[in-house]
Amino acid sequence: METEIFNAKTQKENGTQYAGRVIRQGGLVAFPTETVYGLGANGLDGEAVKRIFEAKGRPADNPLILHIAKKSDVKELWSHVPDNAKRLMDAFWPGPLTLIFVKSDIVPDEVTAGLSTVAVRMPEHRTALALIRAAGVPIAAPSANISGRPSPTTAEHVAADMDGRIDVILDGGPCEVGVESTVLTLVGKPTILRPGGITREMLEQVIGEVEVSPAVLHPLAEGEPAPSPGMKHKHYAPDAEVIVAVGSPRRAASIICREYEIEEAMGRTCVVLGTEQTRACYRGMNYDIIGDRDEPATLCAELFSALRRWSGKVDVIFAEGISEADQGLAYMNRLLRASGFTVLDK
Ligand code: AMP
Ligand code: MG
Repeated sequence: METEIFNAKTQKENGTQYAGRVIRQGGLVAFPTETVYGLGANGLDGEAVKRIFEAKGRPADNPLILHIAKKSDVKELWSHVPDNAKRLMDAFWPGPLTLIFVKSDIVPDEVTAGLSTVAVRMPEHRTALALIRAAGVPIAAPSANISGRPSPTTAEHVAADMDGRIDVILDGGPCEVGVESTVLTLVGKPTILRPGGITREMLEQVIGEVEVSPAVLHPLAEGEPAPSPGMKHKHYAPDAEVIVAVGSPRRAASIICREYEIEEAMGRTCVVLGTEQTRACYRGMNYDIIGDRDEPATLCAELFSALRRWSGKVDVIFAEGISEADQGLAYMNRLLRASGFTVLDK
């Protein structure tokens, strides 16, 4: 299959109209959102949704998020809209927050992987909204990468994984948030299943106490049931070993410097994903400053891009652990998973 690429800015009208038709006819379109690039199909067509799983090599038990272009569309997808959902939608939609609730009959099992609940989000990106409107149906979309690899934050990342496997890529430039949406279930106690740009602190201001699933920062024990199927699967892994050093900035940097030297002595090539605060610690080493520890959103925005930049280029990628407050929770969740929970604390 030949993948057609449209520039979402210069070819705005024809690109989204054409891509909307492709979706309606059962095809696959990668498109930009404010979080990462999504790989979309008609969310009401089970056969079209199956193609997403094939193109990504995604495990069939990992459900998808339905993307809508207006808040009221959620009514058709859920059994009803609970009060706390209404308040969250008013506060954060359009935006990087996915809400899970009991599904309605029109949602195909292929979207929910057989679960009785469905995840829904209204994205904020213009191109994403224009595409959903052009398609005229909710768009089911996971991240537009081969399953297991870092999520794509540019159209080039998408093409590297998906060229020849999908019908269309809409190129809208780099994504702003850089990590996937916050996933919050509203079945039972509101619980974050995946942290993202909308933080626990922000959610609690609107609906009061919000739990964080323990699996966000810890590996699941052997045989432990996953509150969200995505937690079971390998994620975000570049073609290099990823090692995280935790502790104060100084401590993390000194652990990295020591281990870097050991790896190099063994003939392994390394890079450090450093921060503004620790730049001076890595003088003379191969390092890549990806953001500011005091503004974790800057680290989120760059993480996947940095993992892809160094994937296959070095043997070891070192990174610093940061505080889990605010967007730090999303950063640590993605980084720990990318490392397979390989953490050094001394
Ligand atoms: P992705 O599409 O790659 O951004 O992943 C979507 C995430 O949301 C995965 O971690 C899924 O397991 C999770 N998810 C989607 N729908 C549900 C659901 N109904 N219940 C629990 N988790 C879900
Ligand atoms: Mg994904």
